[in-house]
Amino acid sequence: MIIKPKVRGFICTTAHPTGCALHVQEQIDYVKAHPPAAEGPKNVLVIGSSTGYGLASRIVSGFGFKANTLGVMFEKEPTERRTASAGWYNTRAYEKAATEAGLYAKTFNADAFSHECKAEVIEEIKASMGKVDLVVYSLASPRRKDPDTGDVYMSTLKPIGGAVTRKSLNTDTREVSEVTLEPANDDEIANTIKVMGGQDWELWLKALADADVLAEGAKTTAYTYIGRELTFPIYGEATIGRAKEDLDRAAAAIDQSLKSSLGGSACVSVLKALVTQSSSAIPVMPLYISLLYRVMKEQGTHEGCIEQINTLLTGELYSGKDELTLDEHGRVRVDLKELTDEVQSRVETLWHQVTTENLTELSDFEGYQKEFFRLFGFGYDQVDYDQDVDPVV
Ligand code: NAD
Repeated sequence: MIIKPKVRGFICTTAHPTGCALHVQEQIDYVKAHPPAAEGPKNVLVIGSSTGYGLASRIVSGFGFKANTLGVMFEKEPTERRTASAGWYNTRAYEKAATEAGLYAKTFNADAFSHECKAEVIEEIKASMGKVDLVVYSLASPRRKDPDTGDVYMSTLKPIGGAVTRKSLNTDTREVSEVTLEPANDDEIANTIKVMGGQDWELWLKALADADVLAEGAKTTAYTYIGRELTFPIYGEATIGRAKEDLDRAAAAIDQSLKSSLGGSACVSVLKALVTQSSSAIPVMPLYISLLYRVMKEQGTHEGCIEQINTLLTGELYSGKDELTLDEHGRVRVDLKELTDEVQSRVETLWHQVTTENLTELSDFEGYQKEFFRLFGFGYDQVDYDQDVDPVV
């Protein structure tokens, strides 16, 4: 099959197996070039392991700390006539590289919110790893089926309290225009918390603890984004931000339980904004990220998923320091370079100036798009995209 990108709105519906493998290899190479200084986890469970921050967590665990990794993902398998989703190809590439490096790597393609998935994962931990000492929770999902009632909840990306009008970028047409987002009602807020809040993270840790598959001193972290004034109305103070606040509640509860039973710990880790399949779906974020990339690249502080997670795991959670550096809410911060006054005021100035006509000049939309296509394995010079390739890997 000749595989080319097919973009529908903010998603690319095709993925290239060779390009996805290169995307994974680049991250492996980065991690090998930046090895950890201290001991790390030995057996790692990554929930949401196939793309974005979860994939990077798996790569740092495996190729940085030489850990065995078990992944959970929700991805589309390939057929003779249709490509798989990028996360499927990424995972096959990770598993191949890990196996060649002598590292155990297994992945469940299943609904992480279900009881069945948790039970299967626990059986596999018992059979192959014994116990896990790090659990990374990196799910990003628009829907969740409650495992007890079967009710399906959808998350919403809307402001809270009143309508918000903001500049936004249509990444398909490259047009910058004002969009008005209507406020969420109470049900929409509650449903978003149900999908993206901390409840499922807690259920995972409870299931793992009840099955006695958490090692002494086990750690767990879930990922969040906070941002500042420019993104508050559509993220931090909106439905998604409300759901993320619920992670703080869950972190405190899990932390207490892990501390008392195993001397372990739980924390929320705050990461910077960057292009992933999930962030491209959030209104206003593509324009913010395009401007942010420009400013942080000029400053020499730009980082992608792999740099952020390498800093988080080698520089914070497993740095060898006795105490983590936490903010006043008990979170680990890897996002601070994005939030400095200097970066934010420069982004804000550009934000007021940017239009459809000067988008290329004022922002790094080129960089945004390049990274977006790479998420699906496109845009690599080393790959001949006119060549026939078997989509079934
Ligand atoms: P992503 O879309 O790249 O990854 C989501 C992962 O979740 C994939 O592995 C996918 O297969 C998996 N998944 C989704 N639904 C699932 C289900 N029902 N069962 C099993 N697996 C499922 O997203 P990302 O941007 O890497 O986000 C990961 C986390 O990082 C999220 O909590 C997000 O809020 C957070 N975060 C993202 C950013 C950003 O800018 N992208 C910034 C800070 C924090």
